[in-house]
Amino acid sequence: MVSYSEKLRDPRWQKKRLEIFNRDNWECQKCGEKEKELHIHHKEYIYGLEPWEYSDKLIITYCAECHKKTHSEKMCCDKTYRGLVRKRFYRELKNKLNLPPYEDLWKFCKKIR
Ligand SMILES: [Zn+2]
Ligand SMILES: [Zn+2]
Repeated sequence: MVSYSEKLRDPRWQKKRLEIFNRDNWECQKCGEKEKELHIHHKEYIYGLEPWEYSDKLIITYCAECHKKTHSEKMCCDKTYRGLVRKRFYRELKNKLNLPPYEDLWKFCKKIR
């Protein structure tokens, strides 16, 4: 079984994230920062989709700081995972992606770049 963090080391994801950085001119799409560490943020998580299979519209370049802010505002993981739990996908997804317990999802979400 391949965990989510292992998947993010997949060459297909590495290629995808470079494409996105390039598309976004290697700058944060929130504050325009160029010097800071850049992350890839998934605007939405879709059940069953590999990280590199996302449409480019759903992934965006943020600097480390804006990325952190986005997640502390719980715009991404909270909404998405509550949705998943409601849809009873969580258990299945947990087995598939080696997800941490629900309480740790915020931390998990931070790891997704
Ligand atoms: Zn930023
Ligand atoms: Zn994110």
